[in-house]
Amino acid sequence: MIPVLFKTFETSYPIARLTSIQSTGHVPLYIECPSVEALIQACHDYPAHYLIGGGSNTILDPDNKTPIVRLTESSIEKIAPNRLYISAGTPIAKALRQCTDWGLSGLELAAGVPACLGGMVAMNFGCWGNSIAKWVHRVHYLDALNQPAWRSMTDCEFTYRSSWFKQNNRPILGAEFTLTQSDPSLIRTTIAAAVERRRTAQPLRDKTYGSMFLNPPQGSAAQLIDTNQLKGYQIGGAKVSCMHANFMVNVGHASFQDIRALLSFIQGTVQINNHITLEPEVCQAL
Ligand SMILES: Cc1cc2nc3c(=O)[nH]c(=O)nc-3n(C[C@H](O)[C@H](O)[C@H](O)COP(=O)(O)OP(=O)(O)OC[C@H]3O[C@@H](n4cnc5c(N)ncnc54)[C@H](O)[C@@H]3O)c2cc1C
Repeated sequence: MIPVLFKTFETSYPIARLTSIQSTGHVPLYIECPSVEALIQACHDYPAHYLIGGGSNTILDPDNKTPIVRLTESSIEKIAPNRLYISAGTPIAKALRQCTDWGLSGLELAAGVPACLGGMVAMNFGCWGNSIAKWVHRVHYLDALNQPAWRSMTDCEFTYRSSWFKQNNRPILGAEFTLTQSDPSLIRTTIAAAVERRRTAQPLRDKTYGSMFLNPPQGSAAQLIDTNQLKGYQIGGAKVSCMHANFMVNVGHASFQDIRALLSFIQGTVQINNHITLEPEVCQAL
């Protein structure tokens, strides 16, 4: 008999422990994979699933039966003087601590964000004119037969908040990053500056999932929401941040329904007043 390598939680795993918005309720089925082998087994046993990383751009519906799968294995390996392999389940905070110790610069732009490297690569995490694609050398992932495979950076089809892996729903196992050698004290300063820059513009101390909507071709989603005077608008426990109009915060016991209702209200308002369709950036299991 083949041993089961992953751990399953049925109706007992709180959404608050899976997502940074920490909404209410439990997921019907959560599968925790402590290794790549466990993830391969889980993908085989549950072909239709939602892969979650840090849950920092995800909302979960307690009534959706799709199993939620997470790779918790976290490791960082130096494979050349300025190249690292970072596994998908590694939190960016851990990666940054190691990068600082080894004097490797590049990923500091994500300091302060509760994301994991797999989700960041899938989403092509970006800010301030840069995105993670800039440092990706190649990506280790599971192909359609759930076999480990590699994709070079040029085949990753990185676009604004998307990638080949997101478009094709393929699990990322890890990625190689080419970073720049730098002085650890300089990296520490850059990290502190990045966190400070976020702290002054984003509700970093609140329960949030970052941006609600992608910026439309016509301009900034935050500006559109702001000009419709929706900062501070609240439905149940879900509220438009007073600090950043494209951020939603959970100010109490926000439910999935509160979150969806607020997203729909904002989309409707902007559609009616500005004739612009806002597309969600935040992800959810289908
Ligand atoms: C305070 C705050 C600030 C933020 N600032 C920014 C910002 O400046 N720029 C920005 O781009 N985003 C920002 N975000 C949003 C979020 O951090 C990013 O989208 C991040 O890339 C998501 O990573 P995650 O691991 O949390 O992904 P999750 O939310 O877990 O998942 C997001 C998507 O990635 C997929 N995914 C997750 N793991 C994997 C994997 N191993 N393989 C394949 N697919 C996977 C999921 O299925 C889903 O489609 C912010 C969020 C917060 C809370």
